Amino acid sequence: MSLRTFKTVIANLIGGFLIAGIYISVLVVQRQGALQQISVYNPAWEAGQAASEFIRLEHRLAEFGMPGSHIDKDEVELRFDILLGRARMLNEGSFQDLLQRNPEHHATLREFQETLAAAQPLIAEIDRNPEAARKALELLRPLEGRLAQLASVAHNHGAALVQKDQQELIRLHWAFSGIAASLILVGVVLIFLLDKHNRLLGRAHEELHVLAHQDALTGLPNRVVLRNELEHALTRLKPNGRTVSVSYLDLDHFKDVNDSFGHETGDELLKAVADRLRACIPASEGQVRNLISRFGGDEFAILQTGIRRPQESAALASRIVESLRAPFSVNGQELFIGTSIGIALAQRNMTPSQILKHADMALYHAKADGRGTFRFFESDMDEQLQARRVLEVDLRKAMTNGEFELFYQPQINIEKNEIGGFEALLRWHHPERGLVPPAEFIPVIEDTGLISPLGDWIIEQACKEAATWPRDVHVAVNLSPIQFRNRGLVQSVSRALAASGLAPNRLELEITESVLLQDNEMTVSTLHQLRRLGVRVAMDDFGTGYSSLSYLRSFPFDKIKIDQSFVREMSQRADCLAIVQSIANLGASLGMPTVAEGIETEDQLRQIQAAGCTDAQGYYFGRPKPARELVHTLAALKHKVRVA
Ligand code: C2E
Ligand code: MG
Ligand code: MG
Repeated sequence: MSLRTFKTVIANLIGGFLIAGIYISVLVVQRQGALQQISVYNPAWEAGQAASEFIRLEHRLAEFGMPGSHIDKDEVELRFDILLGRARMLNEGSFQDLLQRNPEHHATLREFQETLAAAQPLIAEIDRNPEAARKALELLRPLEGRLAQLASVAHNHGAALVQKDQQELIRLHWAFSGIAASLILVGVVLIFLLDKHNRLLGRAHEELHVLAHQDALTGLPNRVVLRNELEHALTRLKPNGRTVSVSYLDLDHFKDVNDSFGHETGDELLKAVADRLRACIPASEGQVRNLISRFGGDEFAILQTGIRRPQESAALASRIVESLRAPFSVNGQELFIGTSIGIALAQRNMTPSQILKHADMALYHAKADGRGTFRFFESDMDEQLQARRVLEVDLRKAMTNGEFELFYQPQINIEKNEIGGFEALLRWHHPERGLVPPAEFIPVIEDTGLISPLGDWIIEQACKEAATWPRDVHVAVNLSPIQFRNRGLVQSVSRALAASGLAPNRLELEITESVLLQDNEMTVSTLHQLRRLGVRVAMDDFGTGYSSLSYLRSFPFDKIKIDQSFVREMSQRADCLAIVQSIANLGASLGMPTVAEGIETEDQLRQIQAAGCTDAQGYYFGRPKPARELVHTLAALKHKVRVA
């Protein structure tokens, strides 16, 4: 039974109690009325006695004056007065009710009173007139029978009324008893219900307590519990004793799971993560106590108390990273999700908020370090975070203030000795700092979500610019992995092509291996859609990441760009040259042109040519330049290529 039903039942019972109480009061009043009625019939009964008084007076009169009689005048007068009193009473109250029913009784009473009035003078002279007693007796005698009859009728009438009232009394008595018994029963039920109500309230209270302290989805303690425990642990910290740490976890790319598979799958994944955490984090290890809690969203925190060395937290963190790296099977889907962890150790006089803030900062750095790892808080992280915040604010302003520009770097087709195209490279003209290199701000743009609008602008701008170039010169545009998670990428590209009128085969999109690292199926399908538009796709920075050959098989790239780190060290390290050679050979056998990046010297150019690369890019041919300076670059380049 719910609390609401209980309240209704109890309110009804109390209402019933009130009504029963009022009814009992009415019954009591009625009962008293009935008892009063019974006393009301006493005059009627007394009137019945008038007849016997009458006979008594007759006896006194008959005896009066007889020899040996001790009846004197006083005695006769006393009886007569009593009789007068009785006669008067018969004239009042309820006796009248009886008389109304029968005119004959009325006449009897009237005659009785008239006779008494007539007899009164005779009684007064009874001691002086020897005939008075006899005459009075003669006056009275005819009435004797009728009075006796009236008395008997009155008696019967009274008795009937008493009986009726007694029955009414009995009825009232039963009703009273019945209601009293019901009230007792209701009282017992009420006590039972109140007891149950109390227990329900107790349970509700317990549930509220659990709700306030437990995460409903995973069943783990929530942040309130962790904070309280942390506060408690901090008050017990002893100098040079064991300490406390907070490890702050954030699932890597959880948002993508939610976006791609829906919140239900997201929730199931969170439950599975909680189970894994429970499995790999024991409640205690020696003197160390661990408390896992869900902080909300995809964030979890672990409080370790009683630790002696930071390594104990590090060991736990790497265990967690390993455990969450294995695939999850949720709703028939195989999901990969990693975690990044930030660890903060407590120092004396620190507040829980400070420790949590430190852990959060360390987490931020763990994510910046490429995720799937853990970092301890370090004192300069705070400054770095401030600097990063400033950068974020500046970048948002840069978007609206038009501080971005595209520079273009030539890509040379070494076989034909001519410029094949230009790679568009983003530049930021910071109002105070001047030109900021993309490596510094592109990761921030990716993290803040600004990459989508900026990426669209880059594609649009590059297409617009390239449309003004000679028809055989293409433009290469770098795409961020984040842009592949945005379902609007294909539309953005086709819109930019349509708006600029650039032939699709003159647009080359450069992607890195990290694009293929994420949800492969979706990415490959997006790549195919892009290819269907007629654009070309190049694999950028090949050799730096996993360099998995399966990436080259998963999608037929139009070009492979060999990372500049190999080219840079080619002259000193034979292995680098060997790698360049083998990538060039691989490209040749797969029918893909290979571009060597970072060519700075003639020597390097010769080496990559010998290795079999088809194209080259680097400062040797030209640095990235604003669009307006391309005309000069074109002219200068032809000469250098011929020299080579
Ligand atoms: P990337 O796509 O591999 O671009 C080539 C980078 O190498 C450019 O750096 C270019 O200036 C530099 N470079 C070219 N030749 C030489 C050389 O001979 N020696 C040396 N030392 N460097 C050379 P930049 O412009 O600083 O860009 C760095 C990275 O930033 C790019 O690498 C690319 O990953 C990213 N990036 C640049 N522009 C964009 C953009 O519009 N969108 C996206 N998503 N990423 C971009
Ligand atoms: Mg590139
Ligand atoms: Mg590159």
